Amino acid sequence: MAPNSKDIPIPDQGNKNVNLNEIKLPADIGTDWEFKRPWVWKNIIGFILLHLACIYGIYRAIYYAKSITSIWALLVLFGSGEGVTIGGHRLYAHKAFKAKFLTRLALILLHTVAGQNCMYIWVRDHRLHHKYSDTDADPHNANRGFFFSHMGWLMSRKHPAVIEKGKTIDMSDLEADFLVMFQKFFYKPMYVLFALAIPIAVPVYLWNENYYDALFVVYFARYILTLNITWLVNSAAHLYGTKPYDKNFGAVESWFVSFATVGEGWHNYHHAFPWDYRAGEYGTHYSLTTFIIDLLEKFGFVYDLKTTPGNMIEQRVYRTGDPSCKEKVQDGKIIDINGNEIDPKLQLKLKG
Ligand SMILES: [Zn+2]
Ligand SMILES: [Zn+2]
Repeated sequence: MAPNSKDIPIPDQGNKNVNLNEIKLPADIGTDWEFKRPWVWKNIIGFILLHLACIYGIYRAIYYAKSITSIWALLVLFGSGEGVTIGGHRLYAHKAFKAKFLTRLALILLHTVAGQNCMYIWVRDHRLHHKYSDTDADPHNANRGFFFSHMGWLMSRKHPAVIEKGKTIDMSDLEADFLVMFQKFFYKPMYVLFALAIPIAVPVYLWNENYYDALFVVYFARYILTLNITWLVNSAAHLYGTKPYDKNFGAVESWFVSFATVGEGWHNYHHAFPWDYRAGEYGTHYSLTTFIIDLLEKFGFVYDLKTTPGNMIEQRVYRTGDPSCKEKVQDGKIIDINGNEIDPKLQLKLKG
């Protein structure tokens, strides 16, 4: 537990009862190593088949499908990924900015294409993940290893703590959002239309691709690749990297995950400052997503972007983190990894 962590004001994150101590590891929930989760064989077989179909889809993309079909599949992958990162993660789960109706509509549709459950369930699980990170109440507790936090959690029954604590998450903001509740109610038909029918129809009708390759490349390969890229945030970004902002978190800074997810791998920062729309201290550094949000703001599609003041970040680094991960001494000055000098007065205050 971080000393004096209550000093830091926590902006509203969609959970009225939230405070920093709740975001940190609660003392009463840890990881019960004796607990054995029952496997869900239907999901195990389903994921094995989907992954085989994905590998076959990649093979078809390389040897048989038209190049433009693969380009289309990548576009759908990217768009649906942004539905998750901009829409599900930064907008709905963390309320890091506000978005106009049409922007929310586009994000909800793209989120539907990604096939990661409806927005309501996605956000509830993600808020639970932040509130009880790396404990048994975290749906993808990374203490249980890479495979479990990557996809094993979807192949086994939920830990009772996930169910019990899941009920305590305040979802009133999503319940008040018409688009979220519409998607929740009509998720299955919307999924068939937006994730299957339309993405497959485009190559078939616009450039005469055959149904078979459209299905395997644009649906199976694209879908399973998007899932695995998203899952890296729960697995690799909780296991392999540095902890400049808070050593108490399992979450780490991972340039690799940031590269793969276009900006979701600065995860130690994100767990320390979850309201920040940049999801990383250095804005667009390996983060095309932040660049897109900036662009959307310029055109008036999104507004009220939340960030974290630089001195608040520095205070946190010196209080709970590891300054050596992001700062070094050069020519007698302390500079950060981007080469910017850190205010010596602030340094003295923090160290003193
Ligand atoms: Zn988050
Ligand atoms: Zn996390």
